[in-house]
Amino acid sequence: MEKLIIQVRVNEGTMREVSPNVPYSPAEIADQSIECWRQGASIVHYHARDPETGAKSADTELYADTVRRIKKECDLITFPTLGAAMLPTPAERLAHIVEMAKDPATKPDCIPVDMLTTNLGSYDANSKQFTGSGDQIYLNTPNILRQLCEESRAVGVKPVSMMWNVAGVRLTEAFVEMGLYDEPLLCELSLFGDHFRGYGHPGTIKGLYASLDFFPPGANWIWMANLVGGNAFPVLAAAIALGGHVAIGVADHAYPELGNPTNAQLVGYVVEMARYMGREVATATEAREILGLT
Ligand code: ZN
Repeated sequence: MEKLIIQVRVNEGTMREVSPNVPYSPAEIADQSIECWRQGASIVHYHARDPETGAKSADTELYADTVRRIKKECDLITFPTLGAAMLPTPAERLAHIVEMAKDPATKPDCIPVDMLTTNLGSYDANSKQFTGSGDQIYLNTPNILRQLCEESRAVGVKPVSMMWNVAGVRLTEAFVEMGLYDEPLLCELSLFGDHFRGYGHPGTIKGLYASLDFFPPGANWIWMANLVGGNAFPVLAAAIALGGHVAIGVADHAYPELGNPTNAQLVGYVVEMARYMGREVATATEAREILGLT
């Protein structure tokens, strides 16, 4: 079986009140990423955050400084976000990526393309209410998604298909046919705990299979699995057993049941689990070869 690619999702939009180990500043994000790389991670996904307050940020320099610091130390694959629901147009969502791609020292490897329009706002089972305004959506029309793919590819950055449900799988198949994605395709299946039930499939092995069952026959897709809002280990074990790859991080779930581990500790646990299951872990250099990233 192909060696296991481990991605660490270091911070998302999660605040330290929720998870004490979430990094905010470029130095914090880079230091944690390098520590995760030493443990066995080969990809890092991160969001720029205000170094002081932790607020979400679209500041190009915060994004660029993080990659610059990581590249000085290791060949970890960098996978910054696009600012998602924060910014209105595809051009604005990609602006920091286009800028970073101009300099080899800050050029990222890949970006996430979320293959759906969906409801946002989490659900609180205690109060039986959705949080926030209750009107927030995450807009990704086919035209927006096409533009994200075309413009990232034009600057040599690989778009990664993020599939949150079966429709995302089917839309991805269309994008492969349209030549917007190349095979072997790097893609990620996101699952969601009950708090995020409006977003996509439940965070269970059955939720994972619901997407995998609809992969087109003969698809040459290299898939990773993650779980937002719950303990990911059962789903990650299934992915490891099935020949998939895995993504994990304290921002997706603080793991209070494991004593609030750090990102590097979580990566260490996955490495250990893979070893018990007889699956070798890829180095970042090997992951680059598997994914065709130079
Ligand atoms: Zn993210």
